[in-house]
Amino acid sequence: MSPDPRSLAERVSAETGLEFSGTEGRDGDGSRWLELCPAGHPATQTFTLRTLVGWRRIDVHFRPGSFAGELMEAMGNADETGRRTFQTLLAACRDDGAEIALSINGSPRDPNDDAIWASPWRSLEFSIRRGMLAINQGDAAADMRQIELWSSRAAASVVALLPLQAQDREPVEVPELAGLPEGAKIRVEVNRYERDRRNRAAALAIHGYLCKACDLDLGERYGPAAAGLIEVHHVTPVSEVGPAYIIDPNTDLVPLCPNCHAVAHRRSPPFSVDELRGMQRPD
Ligand SMILES: [Zn+2]
Ligand SMILES: [Zn+2]
Repeated sequence: MSPDPRSLAERVSAETGLEFSGTEGRDGDGSRWLELCPAGHPATQTFTLRTLVGWRRIDVHFRPGSFAGELMEAMGNADETGRRTFQTLLAACRDDGAEIALSINGSPRDPNDDAIWASPWRSLEFSIRRGMLAINQGDAAADMRQIELWSSRAAASVVALLPLQAQDREPVEVPELAGLPEGAKIRVEVNRYERDRRNRAAALAIHGYLCKACDLDLGERYGPAAAGLIEVHHVTPVSEVGPAYIIDPNTDLVPLCPNCHAVAHRRSPPFSVDELRGMQRPD
């Protein structure tokens, strides 16, 4: 089995809340690539994300379509949450050993430099390159995990800046669960940080799908029916942060399985990840 562009598109679509379609091909030197493009729009007006699988390395390239000027301008005007999420994601990639190349209006820029937002964006390109990988060595499942990881990090970086519809960006605020009588409510009510698709995509792209409290990977336990089933939890109680607070998906959000997430919210403020780990009884 070789890496499949359709399953990559499915995963990234579920993670970002934006529908992608996937294609594949080979470079002149025979290296395989997988490419994602937002579904239902001409690629010339949107963008492509091409993941090149090289010799012990993965390169993900973001390229705008030739008629995507409006989109580039909108991305350069992203709100504060989008900007911080973009920068946090690229910094997390760098911390994980990747090289980042960012070019705005034709000039190389440092993604952490806040001056990148100062003038209108007419063009944008970036790439995330990770070398020294055990890839292309005959283990297709391991290859796919690396392809998914780096492609989803690039996709989450782009989605952070996209002009998504208002209802996706600012869902109605739902307070964290207050102390309810036992058994009164079994549904977890998440706050707006947990519901913002940009935050969710960024948190999963950085942390992955393993529950941070019990180490469960639902996709591994139940198979494909549960692939990607995970919830994103905001570790700082909303009551402690002001309305202008900008989330850091690396430190403020953690993936939790639905069980652990429900237990976390049985108290207000929620139980911490360490407390959840401490509660668990050995099998
Ligand atoms: Zn769990
Ligand atoms: Zn939560």
